[in-house]
Amino acid sequence: MTIDVLEVKRRLQLLLNDQSLVEEYLRQFGPSAGNQNAKSSYNLRREDEDPIYEIKLTCPVCSKKGIISYELKSKSQTIVLNKFLVPIYTGRPGFKTVDYTLLAPIVCPQCLFASPDKRDFARISESDQIKSQIPDSVITKLQESTDKRKNLLKPETDPMTCFKRPRSAAAAIDGYNLSLARAKVEAWFNLPYAQFKMGAYCLRIAKILKDGGHDNMEILNNAIKFFEEAFRLSNCPLEEFEMQSVYLLVALNLKIGDQKKASSYLNVFNNLQSQRLLEMEEDPSLNCNTINKWRDKARYLWEDRDDPELFKDE
Ligand SMILES: [Zn+2]
Repeated sequence: MTIDVLEVKRRLQLLLNDQSLVEEYLRQFGPSAGNQNAKSSYNLRREDEDPIYEIKLTCPVCSKKGIISYELKSKSQTIVLNKFLVPIYTGRPGFKTVDYTLLAPIVCPQCLFASPDKRDFARISESDQIKSQIPDSVITKLQESTDKRKNLLKPETDPMTCFKRPRSAAAAIDGYNLSLARAKVEAWFNLPYAQFKMGAYCLRIAKILKDGGHDNMEILNNAIKFFEEAFRLSNCPLEEFEMQSVYLLVALNLKIGDQKKASSYLNVFNNLQSQRLLEMEEDPSLNCNTINKWRDKARYLWEDRDDPELFKDE
């Protein structure tokens, strides 16, 4: 009996729904292995897919090419946010679970420019050239402060290797600290969201420390300072992020035991809502939806404020 290889491939594609798995199957068993034994042993050995793929970026500060950004395949993970809005990842069927928080910061190993946002890097391919979204004035300042970033790493740390996979918790924290150094320069130029980003990086460091069984109070207190600045300076043009800042100030102050301050930020929501209701009389296109959404989340935490388990995962 002759074997129609294309037909076998077509059927395998229907069965496995993944071209790389089809190729792997054919490599192991050949096109004639239509027997059940081969198929079931293959299924037993078939592992869940790695949800990460790599893209190569260019540093906007020192022009180094080929910097690896670890990207998450879409729909590969179920993502829920913890009470400090840090994502927690669980692999969906067919995919491994990867704690992407560890891999998110992209670091230039040469000048230590870092960001979890790939749009901060340049991207050069055969077909297109995408510039970094960071303004030139900030880039110039970052070029002058390379030594400061180098001082953030321990002398024994090798940036050429330590940011690769598998990335340790310590390297991930270095990645966020270097991202903080970048955002600090953005804050100096008063760029929008700079304070919010610094607060968010602190919360990711806090989560990594917590997962490793370490104390994270100091970094949580740093996060509070950044979100206070974000709110004070109206550093977040989008209402969604401004309300997240206020919510996080309620949550973080409850976590560190400052109920009085948490309560005053909860009142901020009420004041903003009253103000918005007045504005809506003039402009019916406005609404309170975002304010109310984050006020309600903050209120739920407030109601449970005396529960010692409230922040057990944070
Ligand atoms: Zn660089």
